[in-house]
Amino acid sequence: VQGYTGARVAVLGLGRSGLTAARALRAGGAHPVCWDDNSDARARAEAEGFETSDLSRSGAFDGVALLVVSPGIPHLYPAPNPYVAAAWAAGVPVDNDIGLFFRSFATEDWSDYETPPKVVAITGSNGKSTTSALIAHVLETAGKSVQLAGNIGRGVLDIDEPDDGGVVVLELSSYQTDLARALTPDVAVFTNLSADHLDRHGGMGGYFAAKRRLFAEGGPDRAVIGVDEAEGHYLANQMSEGAGDDRVIRVSSGQKLTGAGWMVFARKGFLSEYRKGKQIGSIDLRAIKGLPGVHNHQNACAAYAVCRTLGLAPRVIEQGFLSYGGLPHRSQIVAEAGGVTYVNDSKATNVDSAAKALSAFKRIRWICGGLEKEGGVSALSDAAGAVVKAYVIGREAAGFAIQLSGVETEVCTTMEEAVRRAAAEAEAGDTVLLAPAAASFDQYDSFERRGEDFMVQVAKVTGAA
Ligand code: ADP
Repeated sequence: VQGYTGARVAVLGLGRSGLTAARALRAGGAHPVCWDDNSDARARAEAEGFETSDLSRSGAFDGVALLVVSPGIPHLYPAPNPYVAAAWAAGVPVDNDIGLFFRSFATEDWSDYETPPKVVAITGSNGKSTTSALIAHVLETAGKSVQLAGNIGRGVLDIDEPDDGGVVVLELSSYQTDLARALTPDVAVFTNLSADHLDRHGGMGGYFAAKRRLFAEGGPDRAVIGVDEAEGHYLANQMSEGAGDDRVIRVSSGQKLTGAGWMVFARKGFLSEYRKGKQIGSIDLRAIKGLPGVHNHQNACAAYAVCRTLGLAPRVIEQGFLSYGGLPHRSQIVAEAGGVTYVNDSKATNVDSAAKALSAFKRIRWICGGLEKEGGVSALSDAAGAVVKAYVIGREAAGFAIQLSGVETEVCTTMEEAVRRAAAEAEAGDTVLLAPAAASFDQYDSFERRGEDFMVQVAKVTGAA
């Protein structure tokens, strides 16, 4: 990180991203002053030779040029963070690792490069990781040098110097876009919008505002925007300079998009690209094993659009899709035994993603529950048409089950019990699906641990363990 040589820069939060930021700042000649309420985290920073200093003491921000905040720390809602509020009050600019990354990328001298590297940034409520990984995979199979970073892959400040013609693919959560002082990707993607993380953003408006920052005035050269919600149409409209312009590619799964602009949509399993009213490319998505379900067709459309802006031909993109293996914990088939398919979708942590998972399978024995998000889960009753029975886990399993009206439920509480019961009752042709519609933190450290536990329990009941 350049521009802070000799300056004191405060770093709040000493997890992976905070420590990486501190190292990058030090490498650029700055003097990081670090803090975390957790003493173990402080000890790790001190072991690397960083100064730690309590940012709550009076005058803590005197002479500090910048405060860098970890994305895991809520800064404004549900309550202002006292350290961040003190920095604001002292007039100290506040940024995060993403902002630092974009600022240094923008000042880098690429004159030795034949083709300067490009940055693609992906945000949205669901499908970010899948879309990011798919873009990276397709570009790699097309022979490009790619680095995947941000919310998936490496920390942004950890990436290598890009190669000539290389692409950096960044997955960005609303926590990351919210505070970043610079967001200047070449191509920005908005997948979709549904309720999630509302407590951190003071409601839906604040959540959308955080995501919209990626599409601000003077923002990306190209924007790929999912228009299956009104918010997407609104964004696309604000970004485009008029009918037929090339700056915005509208993306949909389900709708046939029309008009003079550039658009990519999936219908009945076929992806189509139209530009200036003419069809240019198409792909039969039904043949793509790694992207099951309508929600993945949305991800495929967004990834396709990005790769088109980077100059790839439709056939080359199709080749990449065909060899895409999928990500763990997202619609991941983990076992097939006695005619029953076991699917790990532990990453379905909110209502919309779980609804999408429920629409992708038939005769579902549904394992759900966990730490409930604002708004509850009663909306899922409508999406549960293919559910034979729900096996509810989590500390609040009983309360969760009550909200699922019209669905047969059994309170199981633990994953072990849920998998055991679902497997015992499943008949050939059924799918046992973990799609919790809730966060994992009541019982696990992360959605990954939850998905792994599911796989362990499945291995036990199918005899693979
Ligand atoms: P994110 O990184 O935005 O959380 P992922 O690609 O990890 O997105 O997918 C998270 C969950 O959301 C998955 O479990 C999947 O079932 C569901 N999902 C994936 N893509 C979409 C989409 N385009 N729309 C809605 N749900 C999706």
